Amino acid sequence: MSAHVLVINSGSSSIKYQLVDVESGDAMATGLIERIGQPTGSIRHEGPDGTTKLEQPVPDHEAGIAVILDLFATHGPRLAADELAAIGHRVVQGGSRFPGPALVDDAVEAAISELATLAPLHNPPNLSGIRAARHAFPTVPHVAVFDTSFHTTLPPAAYTYAIDRQVAADYAIRRYGAHGTSHLYVSRHTAELLGKDPSEVNVIVLHLGNGASATAVRGGVSVETSMGLTPLEGLVMGTRSGDIDPAVLFHLQRVAGMTTDELDDLLNRRSGMLGLSGSSDMRDVHDAVAAGDENARTALEVYYHRIKSYVGSYYAHLGHVDAIAFTAGIGENDDIVRINSLAGLERLGIAVDPERNAGRKKADTVISPDGSEVTVLVVPTNEELEIARQAVALVTA
Ligand code: ADP
Repeated sequence: MSAHVLVINSGSSSIKYQLVDVESGDAMATGLIERIGQPTGSIRHEGPDGTTKLEQPVPDHEAGIAVILDLFATHGPRLAADELAAIGHRVVQGGSRFPGPALVDDAVEAAISELATLAPLHNPPNLSGIRAARHAFPTVPHVAVFDTSFHTTLPPAAYTYAIDRQVAADYAIRRYGAHGTSHLYVSRHTAELLGKDPSEVNVIVLHLGNGASATAVRGGVSVETSMGLTPLEGLVMGTRSGDIDPAVLFHLQRVAGMTTDELDDLLNRRSGMLGLSGSSDMRDVHDAVAAGDENARTALEVYYHRIKSYVGSYYAHLGHVDAIAFTAGIGENDDIVRINSLAGLERLGIAVDPERNAGRKKADTVISPDGSEVTVLVVPTNEELEIARQAVALVTA
C-alpha cells in the first residue's frame, strides 16, 4: 500500500493541507486556503511547479476541497484516490471518548459534532472539512486525529477541577488539553535526539505559537498540560489571556454589564499579547520594545513570567527533567523569548547558551551548554507528519 497521506486541518475560515510521504517524512505539497465564506478567498499551493497563488471566492469548505483537488490536478503532484493510504484530519476536541485516532464513519462524525459543545470554535469547522473530504474521496479511509488524545493519560489529580463533582460530571467539565499531536511528536523526537527510548525520559514541551501550551511528559506519557477544558487556559498567547482569576468574569459581568459573548471575545480574541501590547505577533512586540514601548516590554515580561511558572510547576511534578523542548512559531524562531523564559533557573540545572541559542532554528538544535543537567533544545514540530503517521498506523493495523 502506498504511504501517501493527505492531511487536512480545517478551521472556521481556512483549510490547511499537506500531502505527506510517510516513509521519508517529506511534504510533497502544502497549501492554504484562507477567507472561506468571504467575498474573495486567498489560495496558496506549493507543489512540484513551485508556488501558485490565487484569489477567488470560496463560499464554503465543500468548495475549498474542490479548489484543492483542482490545484493538485493542475499543478501537481498527482492526487489519485488509489495512491492515498488515508486522509488524516486534525480535530481539536475528542473529549474522553477518543484516546487515539479514529477511522471516520457516521458515528465518529456524530461524536465530533456532539463534542462541539466543548469546542464550539473548532470542532464544527473540523467536521465541515471531514464531510467535504469524505464526499470528494468516498473510497479512501478518513482518519480523525484528535488534539486531546495525547492528554487522555493525565491522572485525575491533573485533570480534575476543584468544583462541585456533580456539576463537573453533568457537563463533562475537566482538563482536556490541546496541541497533543505536537506535544507527542516533539517529546518523542526529543527522546530520539537524546538517544533514548521515550519511556526513559521526562520532557517539558513548550509549544509557543499563536496558541501556546506547555506539557509535562513522563516516560512518553502526558501527565500535565496547561490548556484546560478549552485552549484558553495556561500560557499567555497571541490573543488569549491564558490563566486568569475566573472572578474577573463575574466582576466584568456585574460592573461593566458585559455579556457571555463579549467576555468570550475579550479573553479569546482581544487579550494575550494583542491585549497587552497592541499586536499578537511576537515580531511586532519586539520591534515595539526596540522603539521604547513600555506596554510591549511589560507584555513580554508577563509572557516570560507565565512560562517560567509552568516550567517550575512541571519540574516539581516530574521530579526529574531530562529535557525542555521549544517548538512552534515562537519556540522555533524567537531566541529572545527562549533565553528570557528560562533565565535564572540555573539552580534547577536549566541553562541556555547564548551562542547556541542565537537565531531562528529550522532544524533540531541543542541550546543548553555541554554538560547541562537538563538538555534544552529547539525541536521544530511537524503535526502533519504525526497525523499522517497515525493515520497510516491505524489503517494498516
Ligand atoms: P499557530 O499555528 O498557533 O497559528 P505558529 O506556530 O505558526 O502559530 O506561530 C505563529 C507565531 O509565531 C506568530 O504569531 C509570531 O508571533 C511567531 N513568529 C513567527 N516567526 C517569528 C520570528 N521570526 N520571530 C519571532 N516570532 C515569530
